Amino acid sequence: MADSKQLYQEVILDHNRKPRNWGVLPDATHKAEGHNPLCGDHIVLTLKMDGDTVDAVNFQGESCAICKASSSMMTTTVKGKSRSGAEQLVREFRDMATGQLNVDSPHHLGRLTVFSGVRDLPTRVKCAILPWHTLHAALNSEASVTTEADADPMHAPVGNA
Ligand code: ZN
Repeated sequence: MADSKQLYQEVILDHNRKPRNWGVLPDATHKAEGHNPLCGDHIVLTLKMDGDTVDAVNFQGESCAICKASSSMMTTTVKGKSRSGAEQLVREFRDMATGQLNVDSPHHLGRLTVFSGVRDLPTRVKCAILPWHTLHAALNSEASVTTEADADPMHAPVGNA
């Protein structure tokens, strides 16, 4: 566990120092905003689809380190994925962060498993999930999402919409 904790801290630091795909895509085809009032996270996601493929995804906003790192890794991971491939990652990430996915069983999360520890940090789960829930909203042309009440990503249905 010491190694995975150290890796987690290194990844969070690295992506906060150098967030990948930061900014707003000028030629975005999809856009969504995500809010997590619990922490104060607010991100704007712009997405460019090329047919069924995620051609590019950028993010910008004000967020804590966990949300920023999760957003940054999300943008690099879903680039080049199909819509259904991206939605599958949304489901798997959410299930991992809420402790419903065993990371020892087959999954497509790759290095994103560094976030598996947030399942033990209830106040941080929403920070880590926010970019993924916002991606889901962008893919489904929903303008904004919030982690509040009924729209709580831990309870909202994800995928196959
Ligand atoms: Zn946060």
